[in-house]
Amino acid sequence: MAAEILTNIFDISDKLYREMCSNKDHDHATLFSYLTELGRSMTDSDRASFWKWDKRKRQLWTTSATGVDKIVIPDDTGLVGKALKEQRVVVTNDPYNDPNFNSAVDKKTGYVTKSVLVMPVANINGEYIGAFQIINKNDDSGFDEVEDVRKLSLAALICGIALESETFLEDSHHDKLTKLKNRMGFYSDFSRKYTKLLEKGEPLSMYISDIDKFKRVNDTYGHNAGDDVLSSVAQIMSDACEENQCVYRWGGEEFIMIMTNTTLDQCIAKAESIRKTIESTPMNADGTIIDVTMSFGCRQFDPELTIEENVSVADGYLYTAKESGRNCVISEKDLNNGV
Ligand code: GH3
Ligand code: MG
Ligand code: MG
Repeated sequence: MAAEILTNIFDISDKLYREMCSNKDHDHATLFSYLTELGRSMTDSDRASFWKWDKRKRQLWTTSATGVDKIVIPDDTGLVGKALKEQRVVVTNDPYNDPNFNSAVDKKTGYVTKSVLVMPVANINGEYIGAFQIINKNDDSGFDEVEDVRKLSLAALICGIALESETFLEDSHHDKLTKLKNRMGFYSDFSRKYTKLLEKGEPLSMYISDIDKFKRVNDTYGHNAGDDVLSSVAQIMSDACEENQCVYRWGGEEFIMIMTNTTLDQCIAKAESIRKTIESTPMNADGTIIDVTMSFGCRQFDPELTIEENVSVADGYLYTAKESGRNCVISEKDLNNGV
């Protein structure tokens, strides 16, 4: 039996390692499902789930509980909530008589829970970031707080590191002020999806935009006012995004929108519509209401050029927009017409 379990564990860790090395689609759900499967096998239990703790939203959520889709619960509920609150392993071998056990899933699915072990999972700083839950020891003996924790520790350790690295990557691809994806997020999306679309011959377009005379906002109303304006502009642009569009904070007061399956004409129309919205939206600048305008450079990607070269051409059009008096949209069409 022990040899069988060990073979099983090696099979899972082998799959996990391969998945991790070839995860070009950045599919973390599959990785976490292998990790929970590892914990389940190691403890010879029937079910396992890894719960991520979103401290900001005060929620716990999992996508890898066997047999169920994503579940989200408040972080002060259930045995998982108890384990994280008390920062200790929680075991119950009589769950239906445990006031912290949530029997809703059992009632819905007909599953009978006989034993539960929840182990809080920490990052390398010792801060709790999630919890591993295993259910029903296969031999019906119930869980042992010492022995099963010892067996679960390896899977919990890897889960903690994987979750920490997922959070770190997510944070590093986003800008804190505007909540938009940043330049790193832009390059990541390019290598993950946009390059493939370009190779397939799909028309991909972009605008690069820059707030006009933004330095004056900072100088006149202060840096907080400038930050307010950046947040408002980001909000207008992300609200305007349709399914095939994504906006990024390229840096400072510059924003890029990528539009898949979009021709240059459609891209110009989109930029023009956003330009008008910004022009006609009074913005709060740390308590003072001000008018803001932006300039835009539009470009349909040339698949023969690199991303940087394409962005640089659009940036040239943006420069022309600034030279032509700002608050306008410029593309190669305008240059051909002698602007
Ligand atoms: P132009 O119309 O030519 O674009 O003029 P501009 O004043 O917008 O251009 P400039 O590049 O001189 O100024 C950009 C300013 O953006 C300078 C910088 O301090 C400010 N800035 C960049 N990032 C931030 C930020 O995160 N918050 C605030 N408040 N200001 C920022
Ligand atoms: Mg500017
Ligand atoms: Mg600028």
